[in-house]
Amino acid sequence: MVNSNLEGFYKKNFNARQKEIIKKAGLSSKEAKMLKNSGSLDSGLLDKMIENTIGIFELPLGIANYFKINGKDYLIPMAIEESSVVAAASNGARMARETGGFKTKSSKPLMIGQIQLVNVKNAAKTKKLIQKNSGKLLKLANLQDKTLVKFGGGAKKIEIRNIGAKMLVVHLIVDVRDAMGANAINTMCEVLAPEIEKLTGEKTRLRIISNLAVHRLAEAKAKWKQKTLGKDVIKGIIEAYNFAKNDPFRATTHNKGIMNGVAALTIATGNDFRAIEAGAHAFASLKGKYKPLTKFYKDKKGDLIGEIVLPVQFGLVGGTTKIHPKAQLCLKILKVKNAQELGEVAAALGLAQNFAALRALASEGIQKGHMKLHAKNIAMMAGAKNKEIEKVSKKLVNSGQISFDMAKRILKELRGK
Ligand code: NAD
Repeated sequence: MVNSNLEGFYKKNFNARQKEIIKKAGLSSKEAKMLKNSGSLDSGLLDKMIENTIGIFELPLGIANYFKINGKDYLIPMAIEESSVVAAASNGARMARETGGFKTKSSKPLMIGQIQLVNVKNAAKTKKLIQKNSGKLLKLANLQDKTLVKFGGGAKKIEIRNIGAKMLVVHLIVDVRDAMGANAINTMCEVLAPEIEKLTGEKTRLRIISNLAVHRLAEAKAKWKQKTLGKDVIKGIIEAYNFAKNDPFRATTHNKGIMNGVAALTIATGNDFRAIEAGAHAFASLKGKYKPLTKFYKDKKGDLIGEIVLPVQFGLVGGTTKIHPKAQLCLKILKVKNAQELGEVAAALGLAQNFAALRALASEGIQKGHMKLHAKNIAMMAGAKNKEIEKVSKKLVNSGQISFDMAKRILKELRGK
């Protein structure tokens, strides 16, 4: 049994930590070699990124093609482990290209910082005092990030919410420009909290960014022709949308499909995918019931229109985006000029992803196409190596029964020969 009490583990250097884990976990020399291969991230960088680092964990990087957004073509990098996702996004974009591709727009990159006031004795008086001094508080917040201010961003507004239970919450609205904004906002909130305490005589507690980025939204819209899709498929897509609109069980999976695309782009660009996921799902339930992030309807000609709105807390600077060499490489492929444009690309990608999934679901089902692409994974799972993978997956597809059992049987036969 492994003893997890690794005293002083965090103090060790990268190589020493690797060594210790290799020994403790009984890794083979082949496994140790694999662990030591850290790709584009050297040990010095890895050691600074997270704690107790021992290596990297790779994901496949794919390119979604055919995307035209506001008249400009994009090659979208996607880091994801799930087969079919990149193919589906490209397919959705290819079909939207017939009508000019995606039209997008977005709001300013405004994020929210929250300062919690607890056991508030006089809510009305406290609110008034904060409102009266909001200019002074904004000035103080902006002293914390002169770079942000230099680029036209910074703290812009203060709002106060009474959330009951003797609690007030101060919202600090900050234009974070090309950053995701968490560090900038957290610093500002921590500096403002004692000032608010002095000003009001009330007690503050939490001071942190909110990932429900309702002021930082991106929208995308596209049209798919009836001539291309057929009347029945359009009907099926709208029925699928209505299903999601009326049932949170379906809406969750509907939105998961959207996030297949959005999260893959988030990871490829070194952004915080937990923030983007949390924000998207909370936004989906903002009106009290969990809803789909997209909507689909027919226009007068009977063509299908798809729309999406979602919060987009992406950055091009800060966090890992600037220091991860692969994130930089992906951004070079993507060619966006600012974080707002990245958010709009994410919205278009999410819409394409969702359209492609609903089209498949509403017609032949997703398993046929998906399992064809997944056959190689199943072949590998069954133990196929090198050239066997292609052979087993081909036989699996031809057999019409793409299952683990079948893959094992085919592999056994192949090796028997
Ligand atoms: P950051 O602090 O690393 O960098 C942002 C800073 O870069 C800005 O504040 C500004 O001073 C500077 N900057 C330079 N050029 C800029 C430009 N063109 N536009 C805007 N700013 C510019 O990063 P961040 O975006 O404040 O924070 C992101 C990180 O915080 C992520 O790693 C995220 O995972 C982490 N985080 C997230 C949460 C959360 O989401 N709840 C909480 C804590 C930390």
